[in-house]
Amino acid sequence: MTDLEAEHAALLQFLYACPAGLVEFSAAGAIGMVNPAAMGVLLPIAGRPFIINLFDVMDGCAPELRNMIQQFHLPQGTVCDGHRIVTGRGERSPVLACNIVKLTENRYIATLSDVTAQVARERRLKQAEIWFASLLDGVDDVAVLSLDANGCIDAVTPSAMRQTGFSEAELLGRPFEWFDRPDRASAMPLPGEAIAVARRDGWYLHEGWHALADGGRYWCQRLIAVRDEAAGIAAGYTLVIRAVARQGRDTADLRRMLTLDHLTGASNRAHFFETAERQLVRTLRDGGSLALVVLDVDHFKRVNDEHGHAAGDMVLREVARRCEAELRPEDIFARLGGEEFVVLLPGTALMEASAVAERLRLSLAREPIDAGGVELCITASFGCSSLVREPAASLAGLLAAADSALYRAKGAGRDRVELAHANQAAA
Ligand code: GH3
Ligand code: MG
Ligand code: MG
Repeated sequence: MTDLEAEHAALLQFLYACPAGLVEFSAAGAIGMVNPAAMGVLLPIAGRPFIINLFDVMDGCAPELRNMIQQFHLPQGTVCDGHRIVTGRGERSPVLACNIVKLTENRYIATLSDVTAQVARERRLKQAEIWFASLLDGVDDVAVLSLDANGCIDAVTPSAMRQTGFSEAELLGRPFEWFDRPDRASAMPLPGEAIAVARRDGWYLHEGWHALADGGRYWCQRLIAVRDEAAGIAAGYTLVIRAVARQGRDTADLRRMLTLDHLTGASNRAHFFETAERQLVRTLRDGGSLALVVLDVDHFKRVNDEHGHAAGDMVLREVARRCEAELRPEDIFARLGGEEFVVLLPGTALMEASAVAERLRLSLAREPIDAGGVELCITASFGCSSLVREPAASLAGLLAAADSALYRAKGAGRDRVELAHANQAAA
C-alpha cells in the first residue's frame, strides 16, 4: 500500500467511525459517500432502505437545501452553518443541525447531527422567560389570554377585556388572528404561522395592529408561548398582548417592562426576587453582610378614599422617587405590591440598615407630597432584618423577619423603624 493509499484508508476509517453524520454529495444531490451516523438519521427520513440523492431524501422536510446549494456562487466555502431541519410533522420529530461545506465545484460535504434534545432544552428556557413575563402582577397594559391547541381563545383575564373593550363572550372561541388589523405598512403573520413558530421555538413575538371593540385599533406587541407541554404536545398557548404607544419599540423597552413596576418605576416583584436571590447566594458564598428593609405607607387607604385613586397613584410614585434618591446604585428597591416596598442592601449590617430606613422615613415625613393639587402628609412604617449565617438562611426568612418588625412598627404607632429580633433575622 502506498503512503497515499494508507492515508486515504485512514481517512475513510475516520469518516466511518465519526459520531457526526457525514454525507458527501454533488451539486445535483447525488450521494458519493455517507457514513453510518448519517445513515442513522437519513434512513428514517427516506423511509426506504436505499439512499441515492440527498435532495430527494430531504425534499419533504428541507426542500430549501437544493436552493441553498444552487444559490451559493463562491467556488468553495460554507453554504450553511447549523441550519435547523425539523424532520417530520409530529411534535416530537427529531431536529437536525446541518452544516454544508462546498469543497469544489461539484463536491459538497454535509454534517448532520441530531439536536432534538438541545432544541427541547432551549425551548424550555424560553418558556421560563416568557412565563416570567406573563406572570407579572398588576401591569395594566398587558392582557393575558389563553388559547387552545388550535389557537382559539378559551379563557381571558379581565385585563384583556379592559385593553380591547370586547366582552368575554365576544373574545371566547375566536381564533386570536381574528383581531389582527393589518395595514400595508405592517404585515401580520400568515394564518397559522405564529402558532407554527411558537410550536417550533416555544414562543413567537410580533408587533402590529390589533382590533378594539369600538372599531378602532391599537398598536401592540404580541407574545405567544407554548403552554402545558406534555411529552412534546402543546395543549394550548398563552397569548400576552401588550399595548405600546408607538411602533417599533426595541427589546430594551420590553426588558424594562419585564423588570420594572409600571406605576412607580421601581423594580417589580418578580425582578426583585430574582436579583435578591442571586445577591443572597453571592453573600453566602463570598461573605459580608446583607440587610433588608420593608416599608408600608401608613393609612394609605385613606388617601384613596379621601382624594381618589389617581391621587393615591401620585403618592406612590413620589414615595418611590424619594426613596430611590436616598439609596445607592447597588441597592435594590422594589415595589412588593400595593403600597409596600422593599430595599435589599448588599454589604450592610442591621444597624446600618436601620440608619438607612430612618433616612427614608425622614425623607417621606419631612415634606408633604403634592398629589395633584392637594398637599398630603405621608408617613410610612419600616421593618429591618439582616442575614444571619446559618444553613437555613433564605430570602423568605429575611422577608418574614423584616415583615414582623414592620408589623411591630405599625402596632407601636406607625411612622417608625423597628428591627428584627436577633433570633428572627434568619428564621
Ligand atoms: P396601614 O397603615 O395599616 O398600612 O393602613 P393602610 O390603609 O395603608 O393599609 P391597607 O392595606 O388597609 O390599605 C392599602 C390600600 O392601598 C388599599 C388599596 O386600595 C391601596 N392600593 C393598593 N395598590 C394601589 C395602587 O396601585 N394605587 C392606589 N392608588 N392605591 C392602591
Ligand atoms: Mg399594606
Ligand atoms: Mg399601608
